[in-house]
Amino acid sequence: MSQGLVTMSYIVASILFILSLSGLSNQETARRGNYYGMAGMLIAIIATLLSESVTAYAILIVALLIGGFIGAKAAFKVEMTQMPELVAIMHSLVGMAAVLVGYANFIDHSSTLSGVEKTIHEVEIYVGVLIGAITFSGSVIAFGKLCGKISGKPILLPGRHLLNLGMIALFIWLGNLFLTGAETGGGLWPLIFMTLIAFAFGVHMVMAIGGADMPVVVSMLNSYSGWAAAATGFMLSNDLLIVTGALVGSSGAILSYIMCRAMNRHFLSVIAGGFGSDNAGEAAEVEGEVQSVDTADVVDMLRDAKNIVIIPGYGMAVAQAQHTVYEITKLLREQNKQVRFAIHPVAGRMPGHMNVLLAEAKVPYDIVYEMEEINEDFPNVDVTLVIGANDIVNPSALDDPNSPIAGMPVLECWKGKATIVLKRSMAAGYAGVGNPLFVHENTRMLFGDANESLQAVLKGLQQ
Ligand code: NDP
Repeated sequence: MSQGLVTMSYIVASILFILSLSGLSNQETARRGNYYGMAGMLIAIIATLLSESVTAYAILIVALLIGGFIGAKAAFKVEMTQMPELVAIMHSLVGMAAVLVGYANFIDHSSTLSGVEKTIHEVEIYVGVLIGAITFSGSVIAFGKLCGKISGKPILLPGRHLLNLGMIALFIWLGNLFLTGAETGGGLWPLIFMTLIAFAFGVHMVMAIGGADMPVVVSMLNSYSGWAAAATGFMLSNDLLIVTGALVGSSGAILSYIMCRAMNRHFLSVIAGGFGSDNAGEAAEVEGEVQSVDTADVVDMLRDAKNIVIIPGYGMAVAQAQHTVYEITKLLREQNKQVRFAIHPVAGRMPGHMNVLLAEAKVPYDIVYEMEEINEDFPNVDVTLVIGANDIVNPSALDDPNSPIAGMPVLECWKGKATIVLKRSMAAGYAGVGNPLFVHENTRMLFGDANESLQAVLKGLQQ
């Protein structure tokens, strides 16, 4: 395929990626967005395969087959609740790819670049390996934290900000050594030292971040993986990789900003790592009487209610209760009750997690509300059903300055007339903090797996 045709294909693929991103920004167009993305990726792979620069077909096909097999297997096997971990580990692969491409470029002596062009290429290698290594180790730790293999509690080393600053200073110093050393053939050691320090930097940055702040980390690492891909594009002189990487990098940065705003955190302190974990005291213990109810009570409360709000959380994803929830919603709406869903921006374990589940169950979009659209309305709500949610409905975020989630806006359902919480036990949520909502005078607890409880409620409502 001629270079002109390859460039044309890359432009078409870039446009499809942009359309894909814009499609994914809305639930109604998300499916179409996915198709655009798939078509763009297919064109990109075919154009790269047929381009003149590719000669080692055997290696490429073997790599494609191995990568395709692992990707397809993971996609078929992964549970919806494991999606965030999968995304995190995929980010780590992008980071590692940037590191490996950087080393391969450095070791490859066939390059004919000289003078300024050569220096620019070396800077690309250094920066690419740096971003790639931080993305890799940070994502591996994020993976561990998301799947519970590493504790969600922040691990804070003494003088951690100084440590971070020291590492940044080392990156600059080693960068200088690398560039001067590259002229004389001695650049490999500074590159290796920098890579090791960058791995440590990624680990330190994510380890220092507390459980409840993980959503920002996930979107931030998503952004880093985009910049790592863009850096790989520069090293390989591949325009499509640069454009795609920049798209992912900038959209991830925008998502991080949105997440920070949703959680009332500062963007800059997120980038520095270790944010949201400077609370001096211990979070207050939750004391009070738990009022548990059975299915029949819940059925009665729903029958009497006119204005109902449903708050889904991570537990709904675990129980796969979204279909039963929608069956109940349909039934209640047929009885002329107002039923709305309230979505917290960090509910579940990935951005948009609840929206995906509700869309899968075919819940109409016009009864799904964002937190800021519905929070004011709670005093008028008769019954709020909290389905497997915990941190996102925790009043201590507003009342307890020592709480790890202090300052995070939450769904203020306790202001309504009654709240029914469906969960299996009194266990804490992802942030590991007690929830005073569960002992609030207007709260009733329905213990059990959310799907089983809701099936019983549905049966009761049908009778
Ligand atoms: P939480 O993790 O706070 O709470 C989920 C609750 O669901 C648990 O308390 C658990 O209680 C209950 N649960 C689990 N399984 C079931 C089941 N089968 N049936 C009924 N209940 C169940 O989730 P939230 O959605 O409230 O909050 C999300 C948290 O995750 C926030 O802290 C957020 O910062 C964090 N996070 C979010 C990310 C994102 O991008 N959205 C990414 C990373 C972290 P029990 O065990 O008693 O049943």
